[in-house]
Amino acid sequence: MPRRTLWAVRADETHTGLVRRARKIDRVLAQTYPDAHIELDFDDPFQLLCVTVLSAQTTDRRVNAVRPTLFAAYPDAAAMAAADRTVLEGIVGPLGFFRAKTDALLKLSAAIVERFDGEVPGRLDDLVTLPGVGRKTANVVLGNGFDVPGITVDTHFGRLARRLGFTDETDPVKVEHAVGALFPKRDWTMLSHHLIWHGRRCCHAKKPACGACPVARWCPAFGEGPTDPETATALLKTQGPA
Ligand code: SF4
Repeated sequence: MPRRTLWAVRADETHTGLVRRARKIDRVLAQTYPDAHIELDFDDPFQLLCVTVLSAQTTDRRVNAVRPTLFAAYPDAAAMAAADRTVLEGIVGPLGFFRAKTDALLKLSAAIVERFDGEVPGRLDDLVTLPGVGRKTANVVLGNGFDVPGITVDTHFGRLARRLGFTDETDPVKVEHAVGALFPKRDWTMLSHHLIWHGRRCCHAKKPACGACPVARWCPAFGEGPTDPETATALLKTQGPA
C-alpha cells in the first residue's frame, strides 16, 4: 500500500484533530463490521456476567459451548450459589482454570443473592463490588446487558487504542477515560465492539494486516505489519467468535 496512507496523521495533531480522526476511524470500522456485537451468547444480565467471568483465559467460542449446560442446571444466581462444587467444576472444566472459575461463580452468585436480592445490579459502582468483577467485566455487562454505555478495555481495545494513537496510556482505566473523552457517551459500547472486532480480525497483536486494513490511512502505526495487500489479506480472520 502506498505511503499516502499516512497523510491523514499529523505529527502536530491537535486535540480537535484527534477527535475528528478517532471518530472517522470508528465510522469506517462501523461500515466494515456492521454486525459487530458481543461474541459471548447470553439471555439475561446474570448469564452475561457469568460468561464474561468465564471468558478469562479462554475463547468466546468455548464459553458459548458450555453455556447451555451451565444455565440449564443453574438458571439464576440463587441456583448457582447453591450449586454442588464438583458438578459445577465438571461443567466449566473444558474452559481451563476450572477450580478458580468455579470459585468465582459461586462467590459471585452468593454475593448477588445476599446483597442484591438475586438480581445483577445495573450500576458500575455496585457491579465492581462483586467478587472477581473489575471495570472491564462491569462495562461489558452495563453496555450489553443494560444498554448503559460502557468502554470495554480488553487486550484488543488497549492495543488498538495505542496503535491508532488515541492514547499512550497502558493502564486500562486510564485508556478507558482517555478514549472515552474522544467520543460521545452513546457511542462507547459500539466503539468497544468495533475495536475488538478489528483487533480479532485484522489488527492482530503479532502481525497486523496493515495492507488490508480499512483504517490504514488514519493509523500512525501503519507498517507495523505487512503492507503488501496480498500478504496482508492472507492474515485476515473472517470466521466467528475468536
Ligand atoms: S492493521 Fe495496521 S494500519 Fe490497521 S489499525 Fe492495525 S496497525 Fe494500524
